[in-house]
Amino acid sequence: MPLLAVRAQPTVCRRIRVRGQVQGVGFRPFVYRLAQELNLAGWVRNDGEGVDIEARGAARAVEALIARLETEAPPLASVTAVEVRDAPPGNARGFEIKASLRGAANTSVTPDSATCPDCLAELFDPANRRWRHAFINCTHCGPRYTLTRKLPYDRPHTSMAAFEMCPACRSEYDDPADRRFHAQPNACPECGPRLALRDGAGDPIVEILARLLRGEIVAVKGLGGYHLACDATNAEAVARLRERKNREEKPFAVMFANSVSVAPYAEVGDAERTLLESRERPVVLLAKRDGCDAALPGIAPGLRELGAMLPCTPIQFLLFHEAAGRPSGTGWLAVPQKLVLVMTSANPGGEPIVRDDDEAQARLAGIADAYLAHDRAIVTRVDDSVVRARQFVRRARGYTPQAIKLAKSGPPVLATGGFLKNTICLTRGDEAFLSQHIGDLDNAPTCRALEETAQRMMDLLEIEPEVVAHDLHPDFHSTRFAADFARGRGLKSIAVQHHHAHIAAVAAEHGATEPLLGLALDGVGMGTDRGAWGGELLRADDERFTRLGHLRELQLPGGDKAAREPWRMAAAALFALGRGAEIRARFPRQRAAGAVAMMLGGNAHTPPTSSCGRWFDAAAGLAGVRELAAFEGQAAMLYESQSARHGEVEPMQDGFVLEEDGTLDLLPLLGRLADERDAGLAAALFHATLAEALAAWAARAGRERGIARVALGGGCFLNRILGAGVRRRLEAEGFEVLEARLAPPNDGGLSLGQAWIAMNA
Ligand SMILES: [Zn+2]
Ligand SMILES: [Zn+2]
Repeated sequence: MPLLAVRAQPTVCRRIRVRGQVQGVGFRPFVYRLAQELNLAGWVRNDGEGVDIEARGAARAVEALIARLETEAPPLASVTAVEVRDAPPGNARGFEIKASLRGAANTSVTPDSATCPDCLAELFDPANRRWRHAFINCTHCGPRYTLTRKLPYDRPHTSMAAFEMCPACRSEYDDPADRRFHAQPNACPECGPRLALRDGAGDPIVEILARLLRGEIVAVKGLGGYHLACDATNAEAVARLRERKNREEKPFAVMFANSVSVAPYAEVGDAERTLLESRERPVVLLAKRDGCDAALPGIAPGLRELGAMLPCTPIQFLLFHEAAGRPSGTGWLAVPQKLVLVMTSANPGGEPIVRDDDEAQARLAGIADAYLAHDRAIVTRVDDSVVRARQFVRRARGYTPQAIKLAKSGPPVLATGGFLKNTICLTRGDEAFLSQHIGDLDNAPTCRALEETAQRMMDLLEIEPEVVAHDLHPDFHSTRFAADFARGRGLKSIAVQHHHAHIAAVAAEHGATEPLLGLALDGVGMGTDRGAWGGELLRADDERFTRLGHLRELQLPGGDKAAREPWRMAAAALFALGRGAEIRARFPRQRAAGAVAMMLGGNAHTPPTSSCGRWFDAAAGLAGVRELAAFEGQAAMLYESQSARHGEVEPMQDGFVLEEDGTLDLLPLLGRLADERDAGLAAALFHATLAEALAAWAARAGRERGIARVALGGGCFLNRILGAGVRRRLEAEGFEVLEARLAPPNDGGLSLGQAWIAMNA
């Protein structure tokens, strides 16, 4: 009969170093509770490297503690390393939480997080002292990055410094067993920030909801800035918002109470539901259901996808709670709710999102009918993030400033990005910190926001760059800022070609250090020959690259204008096909048609471009999808939607030519499309043939050069049909395909690629 040996457990003492996102997330009380449970003596404290622990007790119990540090870490924590060494046994009896040690900051600031289930339960419990308290939070949720001025993450360094905790809040804050132990934004209706209703009386939530239901447009203060909200089912209100915001035709994001309320409007699979309900609460792009456009008129006209999100802040939850009839408990969050709100960033004219209350009054005058404000300041502007199930479209709230792990360490770098959808990137050791989406640098306030973001992130992360990286284009504000910064500090600065940076961004996040092929498909970027590139096949090798080939160049009639007027690209395609005589007849509504035809013939004002985006415009323009685009890339988006509606087709035989010099020529395909009357079929044919051509192009180069890895980068890979088509074909040929996952494939990821190249240079 087996007998269990009973013997005394040896006592051991270990020093444990925990690295990652472990401060301001309830990590110390978590360690404290584990130690109590396991009957261990010792202590835990924060320092500049993360969390430092001494644990003494039975060997098995200490082992259990170490194992559970990772597996049971609090929701907002992210542990990157647990290092253990022996230590001389101290003589402590119990276990204590020690005060923070200051040191070189090697830790990170946590992103903002949606209200957690425990806080929601309190928020809707009429007996709780935080019932309907618009600023409820705990160590597992709430604002972080947007209200932190500097490290360490302590209350005096946040915009909560202005509010003194009442005795009840203070005792929660001081109690290691409490969910609000050291929750820096802790507050209650007694002592916390207050909602403010400009020119209104009564309960702000009641009043604002009533105004929304009456069709008014309301500015609502969020985590990283103001939103403009209105009733999404009210066509007249939506149209008015569009007109006042001068938003033309870009789609609006809408907010639902919960994921079951989304289901009638759009398809919500498991991956989509997980994203919608995640604590990052991004806007998630979902495939619309039939009837969506009729139910939500003017929200995302002509597009196949709807951008949806769920409430993230207590204020947003309270609006839906009020609309549901103010029920007690959280049961209402599991059943369909009627209210659907437009929630679009308040950034008039493409400028940065509105942050301060006075600023809101000034900049949103004439747009908003009412303001739901409060007296807790937003320190850092952060827009909403936009994602698809496997892809970032815009990376911001909820994700920044979380680090992207790199394959190796290097000197600290500041990379300043490009021109459109700008972000910056800072590195520290083997971590890259990609900033939140800053915006298009075509206006002074956004240019200032770029500089402000760079400074704030350097302060917050305590990074002193030693190298600066920027785009090759000398006239971008981001380039001039980088040059000034480098000159002022005597630093080396590195100019990085746009499409090389796109491919390097993908390589960086995948830890790819070997040479690889890159398909960079984009709007436009300056090439090393100063030309307008945008459809390149590259061989990328750390800091170097070779341009193996490019898309056949099309002429840009009228230069930059052609990017906003797809009919001009269609005209360029007709001309290239030897059918220039058709231009006038095909575009009778365009007064410039005759002039463009002349321009093309005379070769004046028609710079060449290899841009894949312009090939999309040409194809969409030929199909009559859109003669004029309301924003860059709109024609391509509509064209993708048409292709999806039509369904998949076989690629066109002989639709493309792979030239000996590496050029990929798609003119035969456009010739076919110019005569296709079924616009849906044309769109499907274009997508299938382009994917086939790109895969054949990369595969040929890969076989010739013995490279089996292909990175896909550039804004065109936001097109899912194209990305999936290229991937499937290349994988069938035995290639490994790398796509952008942690950063957007578009220009929002450029700074990451620039930083990676500078680290390797
Ligand atoms: Zn919470
Ligand atoms: Zn209080």
